[in-house]
Amino acid sequence: MKHCIIIGGGIIGLCSAYYLQKEGHKVTIVDQSNLDAGASYVNAGYLSPSHLIPLSAPGVMKQGLKWMFNSSSPLYIKPRLDLDFLKWAWAFNKSCNTNHVQKSAPVIRDISVLSQELYDDIKSSENFTYHYDKKGLLMLCQTEKMLEEEVKMAELAQNHGLAAREVNGEEIKQLEPNVEINAIGATYYQGDSHITPNEFMNDMKAHLKSARVQFYTNEKVEDLEFQNRKIISIQTNKQILRADEFVLAAGSWSSFLSKKLGLQLLLQAGKGYRINTEKPTGITIPAIMAESKAAVTPMNGFTRFAGTMEIAGINHNINKVRVEAIANATTRYYPDIVLTKEEKDNAACGLRPVSPDGLPYIGKSEKCNNLTIATGHAMMGWSMATATGRLVSEIISEQKPSLGLNPFHPDRKF
Ligand SMILES: Cc1cc2nc3c(=O)[nH]c(=O)nc-3n(C[C@H](O)[C@H](O)[C@H](O)COP(=O)(O)OP(=O)(O)OC[C@H]3O[C@@H](n4cnc5c(N)ncnc54)[C@H](O)[C@@H]3O)c2cc1C
Repeated sequence: MKHCIIIGGGIIGLCSAYYLQKEGHKVTIVDQSNLDAGASYVNAGYLSPSHLIPLSAPGVMKQGLKWMFNSSSPLYIKPRLDLDFLKWAWAFNKSCNTNHVQKSAPVIRDISVLSQELYDDIKSSENFTYHYDKKGLLMLCQTEKMLEEEVKMAELAQNHGLAAREVNGEEIKQLEPNVEINAIGATYYQGDSHITPNEFMNDMKAHLKSARVQFYTNEKVEDLEFQNRKIISIQTNKQILRADEFVLAAGSWSSFLSKKLGLQLLLQAGKGYRINTEKPTGITIPAIMAESKAAVTPMNGFTRFAGTMEIAGINHNINKVRVEAIANATTRYYPDIVLTKEEKDNAACGLRPVSPDGLPYIGKSEKCNNLTIATGHAMMGWSMATATGRLVSEIISEQKPSLGLNPFHPDRKF
């Protein structure tokens, strides 16, 4: 039995704690927040093995540059004279190629499929009540060009063994009879599922507390004592804590702490927004409005609209133009749904930890023997969380990992 301290109690930190305590380790979670907001609470809740293509795909950098001056674009990369950002942007650009996509797709599939199986296990073995639905995911298209692209993506998914098919306007109506949808066609990934995020987070926190996991909330890890490639202790704004093993699951903030070990973790925060409506919408199947790159999720008691990837440093400022863009996209695809001013004013945001190659960092760096890194999941943190937690536990418990760890190595070169 080891004492493990997890820095960060987002979805990745909680899932790591879950598998570590199951293995019999003593677990402590330290989080600078109250554990009720941020990426792990505002996300679209998709468990989507269908999202096989990493963010760093051919054409994305070019598109990002084109959109740089468009205040309502779904992807925004703010140019900054900041060395960490410039190194990240260089590595991101290098990863935007076909070879990288081909190599990454099976890796993304395997970790997402394993995660989905583990969510099933948790739902069936624990006394959790969170909303979890298996309705698939529609990629709604309004133009022939987008539909053509999405059909190619669906073929790629099929080639990787995932269930995917094209559906026409009539079939969309049959799938979603209670809501008007303005789309010429779609692709449908039947294997995807979705969860209401705050319900899962609340169930997991309650479960971990009852399993004697210690939580220190509103407590920021500010420094580390580090000797002979080992962390001796961490210093928070309130106390010094010692343990045998540490897990860095601090999301978009992770690189501030990794730098203290001499480890440069290339990571940028990718801000996204969500708008909720409690009005009945008639939507039963999650969908991505493909041209607008915004997501729609029927959750427990409300519908969520989410989107944008704003790479502009760490801040939680709400950009009303981008919130408006998500609301406008909603009405373009679902003409009967008009989000109110109040709903838009209540929009919230979260920061996705974005690695340059669209793959997470999971594993130990050569720089430190008792730190397991688990971050950088970008748009897929929810989809990959349970498998990440299990891998973290397997690494610390010195067991054979369920998946090959090389693609996730924190010391990998880009
Ligand atoms: C709008 C939006 C929609 C999304 N939709 C989806 C989706 O449908 N499917 C999907 O798979 N993914 C989705 N994602 C991505 C997913 O939400 C993230 O990848 C995931 O939540 C990241 O989890 P995390 O635990 O790594 O980071 P976080 O949730 O950010 O948690 C990190 C924690 O570390 C704490 N912390 C940081 N620094 C310190 C410190 N020094 N000391 C103590 N604590 C610290 C923070 O307070 C925070 O609680 C979406 C994200 C957004 C924003």
